[in-house]
Amino acid sequence: MIFIFGISNGRKDLNFHQTMVCSVCGRYGSYKIIMEYMFFSLFFIPIFKWNKTYYVKTGCCGTLYTIDRELGKRIARGENIDLQETDLHKVQRNWHYSMKRCSKCSFTTREDYKYCPNCANPMD
Ligand SMILES: [Zn+2]
Ligand SMILES: [Zn+2]
Repeated sequence: MIFIFGISNGRKDLNFHQTMVCSVCGRYGSYKIIMEYMFFSLFFIPIFKWNKTYYVKTGCCGTLYTIDRELGKRIARGENIDLQETDLHKVQRNWHYSMKRCSKCSFTTREDYKYCPNCANPMD
């Protein structure tokens, strides 16, 4: 009998919507929350997840922040959270100059994906 198992990186958009005036670009926008995690799978069935990171992305200019894991968990549970600017930790990244391109399907993105969102090929 052969066991097929693997460790992968997954992401999930949380059901969250908050409108705000963006402190970066000054436009009216909204926050979107993305959870990223590692998971262990056996026969392609995810068994457990760990190393969850919660990201907040603005809908207006795509600025990326992280939030504390505890806060992320509460949002994932469906609690009604009002995000404050003090909750957001800006991800220091050179958004405008670092485009990543998937070597397999040519998908280009400004985001720091570990795996191509289009074809799941590892991005370097
Ligand atoms: Zn903005
Ligand atoms: Zn790709």
